[in-house]
Amino acid sequence: MEILKKSLTQLKVHISKGEISCEAVTSQFLQQTKKLNPGINAFITINDGALEKAHELDRRHKKGETLGELSGLPIAIKDLICTRGLKTTAASKALSNFIPPYSSTVFRKLDEADAINIGKTNLDEFAMGSSNETSFYGPCKNPWNKDYVPGGSSGGSAAAVAGFMAPASVGTDTGGSIRQPASFCGVVGLKPTYGRVSRYGIVAFASSLDQAGPITKNVKDAALLAKVLCGRDKMDSTTSYNEVPNWLEGLNSDMSKVVIGLPKEYFNSDMIDNDVRSRINETIVLLKSKGARFKDVSLPSLSTSISVYYLICTSEASSNLSRYDGVRYGHRANFSKRKAENILEFYSRTRGEAFGEEVKRRIITGTFALSSGYYEAYYLKACRVRRVLQDEYVKALSECDVLLSPVVSSTAFKLGVKDENPLNTYNNDLFTTAANLVGAPALSVPIGFGENKMPIGVQLMGRAYDEQSILNVGQAIEEGLKIKEHANVV
Ligand code: GLN
Repeated sequence: MEILKKSLTQLKVHISKGEISCEAVTSQFLQQTKKLNPGINAFITINDGALEKAHELDRRHKKGETLGELSGLPIAIKDLICTRGLKTTAASKALSNFIPPYSSTVFRKLDEADAINIGKTNLDEFAMGSSNETSFYGPCKNPWNKDYVPGGSSGGSAAAVAGFMAPASVGTDTGGSIRQPASFCGVVGLKPTYGRVSRYGIVAFASSLDQAGPITKNVKDAALLAKVLCGRDKMDSTTSYNEVPNWLEGLNSDMSKVVIGLPKEYFNSDMIDNDVRSRINETIVLLKSKGARFKDVSLPSLSTSISVYYLICTSEASSNLSRYDGVRYGHRANFSKRKAENILEFYSRTRGEAFGEEVKRRIITGTFALSSGYYEAYYLKACRVRRVLQDEYVKALSECDVLLSPVVSSTAFKLGVKDENPLNTYNNDLFTTAANLVGAPALSVPIGFGENKMPIGVQLMGRAYDEQSILNVGQAIEEGLKIKEHANVV
């Protein structure tokens, strides 16, 4: 049996029927990880305890116990998500020796569902970036072609799935960090509605935007894994009391009653590359042939979303990252040769060494936007425009069930070609940030390849708490396109 190529849902059936052991599954993925990781750098830490847990699950299974929802399935976890006893770095020097004394709710839920943590995946430092190149542990490479970036910030999580190092992974998405790498790596990525997944124990970047979610080989797997991750948590007061539906059981690819909105401001964008535009048009034709109706809708303030996002995320980051002062935990500068004259020097030497360039840029920008005299003009105004965007979004989705757009304007770009001007990089987040600003669920599904033979995804956005509709359209696309190509690593 070709274990590596099986999906999460397929592996689950094989394991529960006793056709393969948890140990066999875990050891295959571990082998693949150990073989590929030196070249791809998808993992910062490989979990040596994975096989032991697999053994234990096999023992329990033999005794007749029913295993949990993710019975013995290896899952790769973004290294922003705290795992008790296992190093969690946020890809920063600041946390290079940090071993969390407690686990995040996301990890606890995975563990309780009997998933196996196969390792902690690479990311942009503190999840700030779109290419995985800001990681203190070096860039992750795209398994489709190692000259290209896997996207970011959850680049390692997407590369782990595309490279058959794990059947599924967990990423986080503040402004596109699940969907954009999923698109660049030819896999499925779901950012659930804000409040669906607890942020407790996830290293905070921008708390009003951060949301964890699954990265998988197909839509069914995303539905299965999302259900385990979501739910009210008393440790995060922003989590919702809404019931978490069984999205996998609810999957329905019948498009005959579905109305899909095309936000005209996205499609007017002259930024979209021709190959992306062609694949999107083919997807629209496919969905029409399955009976879906299309409608032009408008999000008039969409052009402000990049500015609003970068004001809000940097402001929140400047506040969230103030805790890394080297006093209680995290990197501390070496003061043995030259003592700090005062506490400010202690902080600035410590923080100056701990953070990379992009993280410093965001802290400085955010501190400026929050400072007295500028707060009203920048932060407060951004919050007001965010509210306008939210209203426009609700209005657009009163006319249709799902919005469809590109995920990114292009396929993956080559490593090291990043623009010197950070604003150009920020502009690449045009299509993804709105879903975070309005708190809506959004999905990225593969729809083919570009001129450079790299994958392309389509984005589906839904009403708050209506993950089912975007998963349904994603399922219809997947069934219609039947993409068989995969990265040439197995
Ligand atoms: N690329 C965006 C940024 O750099 C999104 C990051 C994210 O979602 N974590 O902020």
